[in-house]
Amino acid sequence: FKIKNAELEIVCGITSKLPNNSQPEFAFAGKSNVGKSSLINGLMNRKNLARTSAEPGKTQTINFYHVNNEFYLVDLPGYGYAKRAKGEVEKWGRMIENYLHTSRVLKNVFLLIDIRHEPSANDIQMYEWIVHQGFEPIIIATKADKLNKSQLPKAIKLIRQTLNMPEDELLIPYSAVTKKGREEIYDIINDRM
Ligand code: GDP
Repeated sequence: FKIKNAELEIVCGITSKLPNNSQPEFAFAGKSNVGKSSLINGLMNRKNLARTSAEPGKTQTINFYHVNNEFYLVDLPGYGYAKRAKGEVEKWGRMIENYLHTSRVLKNVFLLIDIRHEPSANDIQMYEWIVHQGFEPIIIATKADKLNKSQLPKAIKLIRQTLNMPEDELLIPYSAVTKKGREEIYDIINDRM
């Protein structure tokens, strides 16, 4: 799998119309700070194309990154930022649900969970929306470098149990530092193109 080029092509705010792309889309969801920008940058082989959330509460948009002029990586707005107003949380939810519901070329939704933490109520809700829209979520357990080998199985089990994941659903440990897990994600993208 070779990344030849990647560019941020479309940014959708709350009031913008979603694009009607014809090439496959692969979406990424997760709470703020989970490592979503780092993962998307890692997949695109770029350092800073996807914004990392140095400033929490950054604008809530859906960003479409066009890769190799072949497919899109879709960065869904991060959720769970504590200081956000209630109304904004609702808008965020509607925006994500609307996208999952509307896209005709969405192949996969990756849900990111920090490997060190038990999935939150928001994570569980996101998981259920994904299932409800007819997709099989693929869990990416981020920041895998933060745990040692002996801690990993227990952490993975906790995530699987809390989300109530069927055994055949995928959970991929990923590290933006070592790029562990990247090939597995590329394989999934390749398979569904
Ligand atoms: P986002 O808000 O989900 O886009 O999260 P970011 O990608 O901005 O990452 C949040 C913070 O976690 C940053 O300080 C990153 O450097 C750090 N981070 C992200 N991924 C990893 C990882 O795999 N390993 C480690 N050690 N830190 C990570």
